[in-house]
Amino acid sequence: MQVLLWRYFAIFTVLIIAVVSLVCFGTLSNAYSAQARDRISQIGTGLTLLIDGKSSQFTGEVGGEMNRYAFTDGVNVYLINELGNAEIYTNALPSDWYVVVGDMNSAVNGWTENRAVIFSDGSMLNYASCVTFNGRECYLLVRYPTNIMLESVRSMQLYIIIIAAVAIIVAFIISYMLAQRISRPIRNISETATRMAKGDYSVQFASAEFEEIAQLSESLNYAKDEIKKSDDFQRELLANVSHDLRTPLTMIKAYASMVKEISGNDPQKRDKHLQVIIDEADRLTGLVNDILNASKVSAGLSELNKKVFNLTEFLYGIMNKFDYLQETSDYKFFVDIDPNLYTLADEEKIYQVIYNLISNAVNYTGADKCVYVSLKDCPEQHRIKFAVRDTGKGISDEEKEHIWDRYYRSKDAHARPVKGTGLGLNIVKIILQAHNFDFGVNSVIGEGSTFYVDFPEVSSTPGE
Ligand code: ADP
Repeated sequence: MQVLLWRYFAIFTVLIIAVVSLVCFGTLSNAYSAQARDRISQIGTGLTLLIDGKSSQFTGEVGGEMNRYAFTDGVNVYLINELGNAEIYTNALPSDWYVVVGDMNSAVNGWTENRAVIFSDGSMLNYASCVTFNGRECYLLVRYPTNIMLESVRSMQLYIIIIAAVAIIVAFIISYMLAQRISRPIRNISETATRMAKGDYSVQFASAEFEEIAQLSESLNYAKDEIKKSDDFQRELLANVSHDLRTPLTMIKAYASMVKEISGNDPQKRDKHLQVIIDEADRLTGLVNDILNASKVSAGLSELNKKVFNLTEFLYGIMNKFDYLQETSDYKFFVDIDPNLYTLADEEKIYQVIYNLISNAVNYTGADKCVYVSLKDCPEQHRIKFAVRDTGKGISDEEKEHIWDRYYRSKDAHARPVKGTGLGLNIVKIILQAHNFDFGVNSVIGEGSTFYVDFPEVSSTPGE
């Protein structure tokens, strides 16, 4: 592009310079000869007026004036009598004097009323007029050697050629610099785009002094941010999905082992355990559906499918999933749940929230393996307060700021039954923020942590 721009600029300027030079070149000699004719006619007219009608006693004055013109304008001036002899003259007579006089005679044959004529002979431009001097008809002849004029024209033309050549060289240099200045930001943009194509989204398309290129940079920066968002979103979706898939799979495996080893011969327990397996398999199906609907998902969260549901029953349902821990790992769940509380939310998403919070309490509770789950009605605030407390080592104030971040895991996190990925609380945060619900954590180091969520309380059926 730079070479092309340079070429175009250079051709354009060379053309302009060539045209201007040619015009100057052509008009110069015409302008010079017109100027010479004007001047010679001026001198001739002036001298004619001076000489015409004068007597011989003015010979000195006339000769002096003729000499002045000869000196200042480089002309030869002759006052010629009717015999063709020069009576007063400024320069020596040329060797071909009679040829000159002959030429003058033929030219004056065609002169006009004012009895003056301009004519060329060889290298001389001549002015001839008829004057009366000392009572006799004479001719005034002013001769201007055009070779002097031609020499000036030629040297002027040479100057024009030199100036044009210098101008062309300067034009080439300026064109090169200009082409570079225009193409550099475009080259930068292209390099940045190549880096971006390789997956480096930290790049920034630099702004440029040309408005159009600056706008292009701006648009590309916008496009880059959008691509990055979409890329992040895909990554986020994959991370969320794999995290969410793992939990039900763990449950299915645990319950299947229990059926095989413990409850196989106890139809009641076996049915209960098999039901958990069926429920978890349903949840997996739901998750897979979520993945298939990924295109509808924005910023890591598919559209909320809010409806009124019984939060009390819902929480009991989730708590049942953790029964196996009481039976197999000596966990103790203390439950304080108010009856018949209804809320408006996306049930499936809230399942993930409560499930993740209880899982964390199980993971991080103390050696006593106690987990406290409560769901309390606050009718004056139209709120239902959900809280899950553990007796673990607690979370420091500094850590509290980070636990909701993606992939954040405490350095000395001691995961017990479920291995963590650092995604659980981030998913909780995204879902609760999308619902606009209050949530948070209170923690005392060495005593444990309480995670809470405030649900809006609604009546059991919408519109009641
Ligand atoms: P993980 O998969 O590691 O549990 P989470 O996003 O659920 O990921 O939690 C992020 C981090 O927050 C954990 O690694 C842990 O350090 C801290 N954390 C979460 N819940 C608790 C809790 N109940 N008690 C103490 N620390 C917790």
